Amino acid sequence: MTTIASNLYNVRARIADACARAQRPVNEVTLLAVSKTFGPDAVREAHAAGQSAFGENYIQEAIEKVALLADLPLQWHCIGPIQSNKTRLVAQHFAWAHTIDRLKIAERLSEQRPPALPPLSVCVQVNIDGGASKAGVAPGEAFGLAQEVARLPHLRLRGLMTIPDPQDSFEAQLVTHERAAALFQELRAAGLDLDTLSMGMTADLEAAVAAGSTLVRVGTAIFGGRARAG
Ligand SMILES: *Cc1c(COP(=O)(O)O)cnc(C)c1O
Repeated sequence: MTTIASNLYNVRARIADACARAQRPVNEVTLLAVSKTFGPDAVREAHAAGQSAFGENYIQEAIEKVALLADLPLQWHCIGPIQSNKTRLVAQHFAWAHTIDRLKIAERLSEQRPPALPPLSVCVQVNIDGGASKAGVAPGEAFGLAQEVARLPHLRLRGLMTIPDPQDSFEAQLVTHERAAALFQELRAAGLDLDTLSMGMTADLEAAVAAGSTLVRVGTAIFGGRARAG
């Protein structure tokens, strides 16, 4: 096995263990491999090891990779910030966008989604732990934005996404992830048809799965450490 293949095997085992401990079926949690900063060869290796969903933060970098890997049946998720001048690229080249925190961006994505493609799946990003400098809507604003996004014709609202600040202990991670899970359930109870809670990364995927995450975004544990931040 290659390093990436064995890393993927280990990450899938971590997810399976976390599901078993939470008494959740393992197929409730999707693994998104975060390939930002890594080249197309690393993505090919992961695909050969059975991985098909990939997350990218930097749109320009992602577009180049998407083109170089067009021969593979991959599903691309945008998990980085989306500026107005990048919405067209996201609408054209991605299957998902996780970082919707402004109606204007969602409207542009809907308008610019090519009619031949299925609706773009989107998540509303929530600033669940209130960091002043962070992207995402305040928890109290999530329902309003989600309702508006759900009405856009070429988007399909799937759920919520969070990126909490790093916390060392499982317990502290769990408290924050449980807050996001409660908000997710609240929105569902209010009538929104949501199936995705995108939360958990290399350092906190166990706590995220324990709280109810349905999609973990894992980079470092699959591809190794990154030279540049992000
Ligand atoms: C980089 C990144 C990840 C992956 O983080 P790791 O700690 O490397 O697993 C997940 N989500 C987002 C939004 C990211 O930017």
